[in-house]
Amino acid sequence: MKTREQLIAEAERQSEEIAQYFRDVEHWNANRGKEEGEIDPDPDGSMQEMARTLTEFLSKNKTASKTAAKELSFEELRRKNVLRCEDVFHPLNDWSATDWACAMAGECGEVCNKVKKLRRGEMITRKDIGEELADVIIYADLLAARMGIELGEEVVAKFNKVSAKRESSITL
Ligand SMILES: [Mg+2]
Repeated sequence: MKTREQLIAEAERQSEEIAQYFRDVEHWNANRGKEEGEIDPDPDGSMQEMARTLTEFLSKNKTASKTAAKELSFEELRRKNVLRCEDVFHPLNDWSATDWACAMAGECGEVCNKVKKLRRGEMITRKDIGEELADVIIYADLLAARMGIELGEEVVAKFNKVSAKRESSITL
């Protein structure tokens, strides 16, 4: 069964494809001769109908994801991250810290690759980049778990250390 996040990603992709199709037809029409006439991108309205359905689905389900994200803590991420790792992959300690660090670095590379493709004009969505950034965080937490580091506490301490150094009153 697909997760809500997978279904949202699919709907976002389909939605973007439809939007791209309408942009393409608009572009063709702008470049066609007068005698050729314009192409109707959606003669029976089914594309618009599908776009509406997708938008409705996304607004409903993204709200649910937002609520889960708002309530997420470092502690919960850690607990479920390790639980899932050991449930469907392997025991956390089967991988060395170096293995986890390399996995995290690999995901950093995937983020950069997507951003590079976006810069090159390929069709990369914010969702695509967001997914890779999420992989970085998830692996960073698993690396921290492997090394017995409390990531939330370290983030707070480091954030505040930089604030103090820069004489900023903004602290966590
Ligand atoms: Mg990835």
